[in-house]
Amino acid sequence: MKQPYAASPEASMGRRYPESAPTYRSEYQRDRDRIIHSSGFRRLEYKTQVFVNHEGDLYRTRLTHSLEVAQIARAVARTMGLDEDLTEAIALAHDLGHTPFGHAGQDALNACNKKYGGFEHNLQSLRVVDWLESSYADFQGLNLTFEAREGILKHCSLSHAKELGQVGQRFLDKTQPSLEAQLTNIADEIAYNNHDIDDGLRSGLITVEGLREVELFATSYDRVLWDYPELTGRKAIHETIRRMIGFLVVDLTENSTSLIQEAGVQTIDDVRYHPHTLIQFSQPVQKSNLQLKRYLRNNLYFHHKVYRMTRKAQLVIEGLYTAFIEDLKLLPPEHQALAEAYRQDKGEKGKALAVIDFIAGMTDRYARAEYKRLYDINQVL
Ligand code: MG
Repeated sequence: MKQPYAASPEASMGRRYPESAPTYRSEYQRDRDRIIHSSGFRRLEYKTQVFVNHEGDLYRTRLTHSLEVAQIARAVARTMGLDEDLTEAIALAHDLGHTPFGHAGQDALNACNKKYGGFEHNLQSLRVVDWLESSYADFQGLNLTFEAREGILKHCSLSHAKELGQVGQRFLDKTQPSLEAQLTNIADEIAYNNHDIDDGLRSGLITVEGLREVELFATSYDRVLWDYPELTGRKAIHETIRRMIGFLVVDLTENSTSLIQEAGVQTIDDVRYHPHTLIQFSQPVQKSNLQLKRYLRNNLYFHHKVYRMTRKAQLVIEGLYTAFIEDLKLLPPEHQALAEAYRQDKGEKGKALAVIDFIAGMTDRYARAEYKRLYDINQVL
């Protein structure tokens, strides 16, 4: 049953450009559908999660990651009586602003662009749905509802929040977003921790033996071996991971439900003005989740082989940024025109914005090809 404190499409704070109501869909279904039909969404297929796209066909990409986030978040939303369509819309759009090459690309772009305000991927996701998507006759962007936009803007620096108007206001006021946004945020974490274990094991960079020092993994793995003493290989891993996801989802659902009851919230405004978020793991699970994250950081994300690939990705991003920012004429003509237009409007910062938009929008393979076209003398243009 839908709860009174869930986001409601009928009570939405609306779209930036008013539109007539959809015929047989809710406003949030319309948001979700627009995201699926966007070009940014299709690009997610060719953007790195942890492993670079060409390293193997079975690894997660930003697209499959986003689908897993949507699956987890929707399941919890249904149990808790939250708005499933809004939850799904936020989940599918949450990584639209990601650069090629995952976190390595994002960190590199942030470092390159320090002088002009850095780079924040959540802010870029909002920029994609608010401005960069260009398919509708009546407006730039996807013209999503306020609730979808606030969910997409998961984090934001105070200096940027000040420039964003209503959607940035909560970072200045220290208020909370909808429960659907809070939920998607944690579903993101559940999805990537678990699929990174799976991909990490598949790659051979981490091992089951090593992971047994992580409490969350060990508990599920021991239970699998208890139930199926003969089980080995992929099936043992998959059984373990599905139990981990199940355990986390149940803890999140039960703990959040009691937090909501204790807080006595009745409306979405009560949710917004509550001093802290209400979608949270229980304390013990938060702790074991941290242990898992630490393990993955030390053993997978900073693994020698991943690190070497990360460094190459940084070189590509730095190479692209430096070439374009020093000589705008190297940009494709339509991006050159944008850079000029933004420069007239916002000065040098505007010029950098056009370069950032171009690079952040690239898929991994487009970025590699563009780097070659710029720097490899033997490369045909
Ligand atoms: Mg994500």
